[in-house]
This record gives sequence, C-alpha cells and structure tokens, in this order.
Amino acid sequence: MKNNSKINSWLTNLNLSHPLVISGPCSAETEEQLLTIAHQLKNTDTSILRAGIWKPRTRPGNFEGVGKIGLQWLQKAKKETGLLTATEVANPKHVELALQHDVDVLWIGARTTVSPFSVQEIAEALKGVNKIVLVKNPVNPDLALWIGAIERIYDTGITQLGAIHRGFSAYGKSKYRNTPEWQIPIDLKLHLPNLPLLLDPSHIGGRRKLIFDLCQTALDLNYDGFMIEAHHQPDEAWSDAKQQITPKVLEEITKKLIVRKKAESESEFTNTIKLLRSQIDATDTKILQVLGNRMEIAEEIGRLKKENNVAILQSKRWDEILETMIAIGNENKLSKDFVEKLFKAIHQESIAHQKKVINKN
Ligand code: PEP
Ligand code: MN
Repeated sequence: MKNNSKINSWLTNLNLSHPLVISGPCSAETEEQLLTIAHQLKNTDTSILRAGIWKPRTRPGNFEGVGKIGLQWLQKAKKETGLLTATEVANPKHVELALQHDVDVLWIGARTTVSPFSVQEIAEALKGVNKIVLVKNPVNPDLALWIGAIERIYDTGITQLGAIHRGFSAYGKSKYRNTPEWQIPIDLKLHLPNLPLLLDPSHIGGRRKLIFDLCQTALDLNYDGFMIEAHHQPDEAWSDAKQQITPKVLEEITKKLIVRKKAESESEFTNTIKLLRSQIDATDTKILQVLGNRMEIAEEIGRLKKENNVAILQSKRWDEILETMIAIGNENKLSKDFVEKLFKAIHQESIAHQKKVINKN
C-alpha cells in the first residue's frame, strides 16, 4: 500500500476545506445536545461532525455512551446540516449499526488499534464497504502496531483511509494528557506518504489552552487536518469536559492558524534549510563526541572504585548532578523534564561503562 495514491482520494474527491476539520462532541449525550452542536458547527470550518456513541472509558462506572439511539441523532444532524458524520467503532456490531445509519466516516480508537484481533474483526466487517476509515494511533508508542492496523483495514479492500495522531500514554505527570511523540507520526508519513494524517489535539492536550499550539505544529509538519472535540457547553460535557471547546472558540482557532507553503522547491528556502540541517548534523556529531569523552571519564572513575572496593551507584552524588544540571539546563532554555530524561539516560550509560570496567578481571 506504500505508494498507493488512492488512499488519499477521499480527501481530494470530497472537495473539503483544507485543512480538513472534523469536530463535534466527545460523546453524543442527548438529541438536543447533538443537534445544537451540529448547527453551531455548520457555520465553522467543520466538514465532518464527530460524536462518540460507544465510549471506551478507562475506569468502569463512567458514562459509556448512549449507544444505538445516538446513531439516529447523527443521521438527523446530517440531514439538517449537510455535514458528513463520523463515529468510533470498536467491534463488528458497531460497524454493522454505523453502516445501517449511514455514518460516513468510521474511526478506530486508540484502545482498539492496540489489538490486532479487534482490528482484524473490524476489517472483516468492513469488506466491500465504501466508507472512509480513520485509524487512531495505538495508546502505546509503537509505530509498527499503528501501521499494522492500517494495513489490516487496507487489505480488506478499504482504500479511503487516514490516520489520526492522538498522542501516547505515559506514566506520571506531564504537560499533556497523552504525549505527542511527534517523531512517530513523522515516521508514519515517511513510510506512507500518501496517507492523510490528522491531528487530534483534544486528546493529546487534555486541556483547551493547548489546542492552538498543537494544531499549528501539525500544520508546520504538513498534516492534512484535525479532529477536535467541540461542545456547546464544554464544562457540562458528560465526558472529556476539560478539553472540549465551543464551536465559536473552534472557529477562532482555525482562523488564527497559519497554513504555510510547502516550500521545499523554493531555492532560497531550500538553501537555508540545507544550511541549518548541516549545522544540526554537525552539532549532533559534537554531542556524541562529548558523550564519548564523558564515558571515558566514567570508566576512569570505575577503575578507581574497583581499586577501593566502592559501589558503583552513589545516590547522593547523582542527586547533586541532576540538581545542578537542571539549573544549567534552565539557563540554556532546556526544560526540567528534558534535562531529567537526558541525564537519566547518560547516567545509565555511565553505569554500564563502569560495570564493564569493574567486572573485568
Ligand atoms: C475519542 O475520540 O473520544 C476517543 C475516545 O479517543 P481515543 O481513542 O483517542 O482515546
Ligand atoms: Mn474524548
């Protein structure tokens, strides 16, 4: 499927706005709620109305979606507004019901993409169907698993395909609800250049105020559009209240976004970027050489520790290093989170070098 140009035909054929905007509530809650939102979105850049009908909730006891009845509301919204419709499907029964209610776009959620069994079952239920299917990244940062799910859908004959980048789970506190790990969708684009790629800033950010910056970054990386959660009364939403925005705010965001030219062919641009890239390459080489020097010093310390029968890990010293480096990092505009991750990796590599020395007879 690598060079198949058909997989993006839907994007051009539908003559939708660029960037494509899919928007709507996290969950369909009531008929009135969905129709109100749909009518408000009709006056924005939105082309496709999204609404979750079956909700995969992390913990039991939360609102799990209205189920089948919500599909009738989606159908009504389509009739009244002319917007195309989209919903999440997680099993063949969902696919069957969505098809019966003429949903235009089916998406596979992040918790489903992780399971090849589930994706295969959905793929088989989609045989011979002429719909647009979007595959969200799996919750874990695994590019092959994401590609595998896309291939399973493609292999059953669906050619109108796309991917949605919604971020990846991480343990512990972070600025994001799901970390973007931009390198993964970039690698997906390198692997499948024709596959439309959309950003879901709502589930990455988890908070309204992160949405604009995430969308701008995606445009700068040549994404094709967005899936953004919108609700007429976000604070009252039955799921994902913190990240939903009103259709009015959505419109403000899309108006403010800058769509830059794909300027690789412009000579001045090409020359400048080449220059900057060579500077990056040279800097990266320097970083590795300096790290190599650091490991030599660590080995020297390892030899000393061996002679004096001292343990490799000296926690106090390590805490001091980390504290100092975070401060220096701060002076150099490097985030605490980055410095911590970097030095944890460096420290591990140092320990490995010291171990090698100490265990040598
Ligand atoms: C959603 O789009 O509401 C949703 C559940 O998303 P994800 O599969 O990305 O968690
Ligand atoms: Mn949601």
